[in-house]
Amino acid sequence: MTEPDAVPMGTDPLEMDSDQMRRLGYQVIDVLVDRLDGLEGRPVWTGATRAEIDRLLREPSPEEPADPELLVGWLAREILPLSSQNDHPRFFAYVPACPTWPSILGDMLSRGTNTFAGMWLSGAGLAGVEVMVLDWFKDWIGYPAEAGGLLVSGGSAANLTGLACGREAKLGGDLSGAVAYATSQVHHSNGRALRVLGFREEQLRVLEPDADQKIPLKALRSAIERDRAAGRRPWAVLASGGTTNSGAVDPLTELAELCKSEDLWLHVDAAYGGFAALTERGRAALQGLELADSISLDPHKWLFQPYEAGCVLVRESALLESAFKFQADYHQDIHSDSGEVNFSERGIELTRPSRALKIWLSLKTFGVGAFRQTIDRSLDLALEAEQRIQESAEFELLTPASLGVVCFRRTGAAAEDDAQLDELNADLVERLKEDGEAMISSTQINGVYAMRLCILNHRSGPKDVHRTLQWLEKADFAVSAKAGS
Ligand SMILES: *Cc1c(COP(=O)(O)O)cnc(C)c1O
Repeated sequence: MTEPDAVPMGTDPLEMDSDQMRRLGYQVIDVLVDRLDGLEGRPVWTGATRAEIDRLLREPSPEEPADPELLVGWLAREILPLSSQNDHPRFFAYVPACPTWPSILGDMLSRGTNTFAGMWLSGAGLAGVEVMVLDWFKDWIGYPAEAGGLLVSGGSAANLTGLACGREAKLGGDLSGAVAYATSQVHHSNGRALRVLGFREEQLRVLEPDADQKIPLKALRSAIERDRAAGRRPWAVLASGGTTNSGAVDPLTELAELCKSEDLWLHVDAAYGGFAALTERGRAALQGLELADSISLDPHKWLFQPYEAGCVLVRESALLESAFKFQADYHQDIHSDSGEVNFSERGIELTRPSRALKIWLSLKTFGVGAFRQTIDRSLDLALEAEQRIQESAEFELLTPASLGVVCFRRTGAAAEDDAQLDELNADLVERLKEDGEAMISSTQINGVYAMRLCILNHRSGPKDVHRTLQWLEKADFAVSAKAGS
């Protein structure tokens, strides 16, 4: 693939000289900026089969050195483009991720110094940055000063961490007969977290959501009552601050009241939706979020950070340490008695990078107002999409715009039944992706196939939403179109 180059002279075969480090670094920056400059004109998605990838990459592990500048150039041409471009202005699938440039550079600074952000002793500066960033998040959410948290890899790790605190607080070591409650709309990582925490599948009661895709309070109350009567031990409610399917927000204030009177832990998974709390509308939609016992947030979604950046906040900070703190002889010299935080004592990771630096650098660079404005614009775009869907004879709105998500389907064909419509809609989603014009994803709403737009990307504008809907509206949509496409 590339010609071997001489290893720099010296005793350390893994060292590079400063000139080469700079050249290579600038090359990487050029690759990244060129990519962003050309993003709008490129397909939103480029896939490859396993066989194609193997043809490009498969070789014995390389014994000989090679020129890293050639390698970076080759990666930029051949490998990096083979992906969905999640920061493309017309990427509306799953949950878009569109990091700002200062956040990318902040991540590079953290990775480049390789600061160990698990202990105050090893990285007071960046541990302090994490304390600061978490305090800002607490403030945005309306959490009290005694709340605490930490940055983790993502929403999945945040859910696991928050639920571990809940288990500690409500059950201690005895999981027998314990039952938690959620609807089918809660993110699957919550169920997985419970499994990892030692619960059996039947210890999560999965309720049918109401017509608005939310937790039905009445059914929840009777389920708790029934379980208590049967001698089981209700301990937690797993709610959503924006479901991934439809953006629905569970009735958080009512759930908090119920959980308080029933002595249950309230975990709110607000991984993608939580940062909407920065805006007035988002805050209204997420009313009651501040009453949760634990909250998951994903700065790598609606706070425009590069992967990985998740966050868990726990109302009673000390519970994090009850759930995770361990003594180890080789840590006997590490103390934290005047407010210094050892973040590794609050979660499952000992070695961890600073995920706070990128957040800090981007928030300071643009100011929080710029983030608020951008999130507000996403909310506007989702409303515009909803309106356009409702005005079109071709579309049927399935769920209204909620925290940037709209679900709908195309109905214009002479389809015989829902099953046939489902197939035709699935085919549209696939053809849009193959075309490269835009990318959306799908879900099930009340048993039918739903196309799903998730508009979170700071690069997306009205014309991007319009172009995408127009494509879906005008594309062939007939029982025969499928075979012919
Ligand atoms: C994305 C998401 C998750 C999972 O988060 P990861 O960062 O992918 O681990 C969990 N819950 C919700 C609501 C999400 O949107």
